[in-house]
Amino acid sequence: MPHFPPLILGSRNRKKSREIAELLEPHGLTAQSIADFPDVAEVVEDGATFLDNAAKKAAEPARQLARWVIGEDSGLMVDALRGAPGVYSARYSGEGATDDSNNRKLQTELAGLTIEQRTAAYICTIALADPTGAIRLTAEGRCRGLIITEARGENGFGYDPYFLIREYHCTFGELSARVKHQISHRARAFGVFIPQLVKLFAGTNR
Ligand code: IMP
Repeated sequence: MPHFPPLILGSRNRKKSREIAELLEPHGLTAQSIADFPDVAEVVEDGATFLDNAAKKAAEPARQLARWVIGEDSGLMVDALRGAPGVYSARYSGEGATDDSNNRKLQTELAGLTIEQRTAAYICTIALADPTGAIRLTAEGRCRGLIITEARGENGFGYDPYFLIREYHCTFGELSARVKHQISHRARAFGVFIPQLVKLFAGTNR
């Protein structure tokens, strides 16, 4: 079993961080939250892509703390909106955005479209920075669904109550965390990322 240095998760989103902790845990991995380091400057998410933002969320705190940091950036891309809200998913409805205000804006933008025109994908990207801030690993996962008009279910966060998984006839708001952790964009990205992480720390290229 490789020896893992302490890892830090560069996200202050509590619900997302809990999902990530649950994805790492079966592999015997833990990551301390960046929220435990109040002196670390907030990362400005101004990248043009999810990967740019994930890399920033990893590299900037890694350099400040001289520690290994996992950066994660994710969001929703709706085909009929040419990929919006995309990297703006968390602040889609502007200053002071909440999940509710973002979902209201999304429904306004999609008004009048049929269910078949409401195809979308969640994207999750991950980057690992070493204690110098150099990016050592990246991974991506996607999950396709449909944006329905009425919220269903209380689970998850963000756009989950409106994100229908066709094969399950359920939204991520209705599906249990156990199922979300098998099929979500985040589960797929960590499914690619974790074996790479294990290999990196088992190797000599640290
Ligand atoms: P980030 O923290 O900048 O990566 O923002 C991600 C945003 O994308 C969240 O605030 C949500 O609006 C949306 N998002 C990403 N992943 C999920 C998910 O698994 N469920 C619901 N919304 C998500």
